[in-house]
Amino acid sequence: MDSVLVSACLRGVPCRYDGRDKAAPGLDDAVAGRAVVSFCPEAAGGLPTPRRPAELVGGDGHDVLDGRARVVEDTGRDVTAEFVDGAHRALAAARHAGCAEALLMPRSPSCGRGTVYDGSFGGELVAGDGVTAALFERNGIVVRSGPGV
Ligand code: SF4
Repeated sequence: MDSVLVSACLRGVPCRYDGRDKAAPGLDDAVAGRAVVSFCPEAAGGLPTPRRPAELVGGDGHDVLDGRARVVEDTGRDVTAEFVDGAHRALAAARHAGCAEALLMPRSPSCGRGTVYDGSFGGELVAGDGVTAALFERNGIVVRSGPGV
């Protein structure tokens, strides 16, 4: 059976920064017939739930992986190490389960694909990928945004 890694919050796990989930209508159809690995990179990286919101500063997830950008909470605390560690743990989980695809939460600094917040905490979006999405793409895992959110 094919396997797919899914952002845990899209599967109804209350692991978002605000302690809530983001259960996605249509997810069951999107993963039908496949084994599902639910994973939250930020929790896996050691961050608590709830936690302060964080955004990418100085670039996107690819830039973070290359050491050119950081992940920072709205308090100014640098959580780059936790985000990178969580991304590598997500990649290990995906590889262990043989996942060729991931369905990830849009706009997240970890899971977002194609669009992320700009680092100003003002709600502005820019083109880019989250840290986990970037690491997946670099390692041949097809990243799609989860449905219905
Ligand atoms: Fe965790 Fe990703 Fe959902 Fe954020 S978007 S709560 S990192 S699974």
